[in-house]
Amino acid sequence: MFLDACDIDDGATLECDVCVIGAGAAGLTIAHELAGSALSVIVISGGGRRRRGRDQALYRGTVRDPSQHSWADRFRERRYGGTTAIWGGRCVPYDAIDFEARPYVPHSGWPFGRDTLEPYYARAAVYCEIGAPLFDAATALPDRPASLLPGLASEAVTGTTIERFSRPTDFGRLLERRLAAAPAVRVLLDAHCIGLAGAANGAAIDHAPCATFRPSRFSVRARTYVVAAGGLETARLLMAARQASAQPLAIASPWLGRGYMGHLNGTVGAIRFAVPPERINGGYEVSPDGVYCRRRLWVTAAAQRQHGLLNTMFRLHHPPIADPTHRDPVLSAMYLVKDLVLYEYSRKLRAARSLGHLLGHLRNVATRPLVLARFGIDFVDRRWLRPRRLPSVARFSPTGRYSIEFHAEQSPDPASRLELGDAVDCFGMPELVIDWRVHARDVDSVARAYALLQRELAAAGLGVLELDRDGMDAAIRADGAVGGHHLGAVRLADAPERGVVDRHGRLFGIANGYVASAAVLPTSSQANPTFTVVALAIRLADHLRQRAHATRLSARPVRLETRPRREPVPA
Ligand SMILES: Cc1cc2nc3c(=O)[nH]c(=O)nc-3n(C[C@H](O)[C@H](O)[C@H](O)COP(=O)(O)OP(=O)(O)OC[C@H]3O[C@@H](n4cnc5c(N)ncnc54)[C@H](O)[C@@H]3O)c2cc1C
Repeated sequence: MFLDACDIDDGATLECDVCVIGAGAAGLTIAHELAGSALSVIVISGGGRRRRGRDQALYRGTVRDPSQHSWADRFRERRYGGTTAIWGGRCVPYDAIDFEARPYVPHSGWPFGRDTLEPYYARAAVYCEIGAPLFDAATALPDRPASLLPGLASEAVTGTTIERFSRPTDFGRLLERRLAAAPAVRVLLDAHCIGLAGAANGAAIDHAPCATFRPSRFSVRARTYVVAAGGLETARLLMAARQASAQPLAIASPWLGRGYMGHLNGTVGAIRFAVPPERINGGYEVSPDGVYCRRRLWVTAAAQRQHGLLNTMFRLHHPPIADPTHRDPVLSAMYLVKDLVLYEYSRKLRAARSLGHLLGHLRNVATRPLVLARFGIDFVDRRWLRPRRLPSVARFSPTGRYSIEFHAEQSPDPASRLELGDAVDCFGMPELVIDWRVHARDVDSVARAYALLQRELAAAGLGVLELDRDGMDAAIRADGAVGGHHLGAVRLADAPERGVVDRHGRLFGIANGYVASAAVLPTSSQANPTFTVVALAIRLADHLRQRAHATRLSARPVRLETRPRREPVPA
């Protein structure tokens, strides 16, 4: 059932078995998984169904280096459904190597391996609506060539792994009907959690104080709490609870707020393939179950170990868009409207403007208007008129020339951190200070991964990758952190000296406090986080159900109704 928190009496206390703080991918997945059980659940949604400025303002904070990290209130949504209202939907599982303790990656190693998550990935695929959880082209795209590049038989770089794309699913919309019908679930819209009050000398959470813009205050008291407020806000809530003057929480780890990571991402270098352009499979393809997929070039686990590299992958990207010599009217049109595009997607289009560039782009558009018109009609159709959205523009290059985009792991570094500042929001919560840092080893690893790719392509006679060696460091750092990937500040580990939550997501030192968020990811992988966040959330829900079952209640697992698997997506 859905309730407007403004209708709750000022000063009231609501009671339940499980209190979930946050209504994004993680929080709503847990609430839905528990919906069929005997556990009563309250979800504190931190906003309503629409984005509103006053809610979003609660996400404000200070960023130490705004040239490297986006503003604190951007790339996350304070509302029911959370950031899945605007996410891109790219789903990739973590690789087995991401879970290993690697000698060349300080603070790496999970308390469990990829095999532990495997069954949860299968269930996460249903929530993310990505069809069968197959991430290898041979099985996912059986009637198509196996590799991005024909003839690439390298042991160091493979072109056979794929990304699968969600619709992209808005978790709020996906689960609303089911949660509304669940008698034991209450979703409190427009309720903001403003702390976690400790009990038993801070070794347990007593209640979650909440505020509304009515204005009013009330509390939620539960047996168990799950903080699922997103990668930044989860850390903020926990840090505020630990330093509260009254009833502080005794979170027993020096890592809280530390080890904050994103991904390194950007476009560096250009490649001219030596194979016929039409044999290169770098664009979007549709799987037999109707899901957009895309291949990439991945540095294999063996090569990562051999060369001491962080997990890295490459995608084919348009020729440099800002340079009109590509003569593509579509790319020129994209360049001309780039200021209208969300920063996350426009940042690779940025470049110094000159009148000459501008005239070149206008000429490209004016000389081939039919190409542009045909593209426009097709793009509008695939992007906005179909149940599944074409994820992005991926132009085929008739010359076989592409830029190379990288998406790379950032290593955990305690110096990269989130802190609480002196400023407070309108409910009195201390604002966040984001001090995101990139270690030199991370930049060096990307540069060496590019050099490896260059060698492998040359050795196989497949193409020439042009790199400006002197400008590599600056080019790798140019775009800064990927907006929306907020990882690691509440890291998962086997002991409080190494992390903040245990293998199930329970806060070390707190008997009844759990975390479900990208904040628990102790390493960042090359993979986007949400698929793994959802898998971990399902795993946590199972754990909570089993605990409840062991103690007093019967708790059945639920099944998510899936929509028809085959959908009309144009090939
Ligand atoms: C532009 C963009 C594109 C992206 N594309 C991808 C992609 O392609 N693939 C991918 O894997 N990831 C992508 N992401 C990241 C993805 O959106 C997040 O990983 C995902 O939404 C995280 O889920 P979450 O539930 O942890 O947090 P969120 O979805 O952010 O949800 C947090 C919830 O907590 C609530 N909340 C916060 N504070 C409080 C409080 N104090 N009290 C009560 N409630 C609170 C919020 O209102 C919200 O409901 C993208 C992000 C952006 C911005």
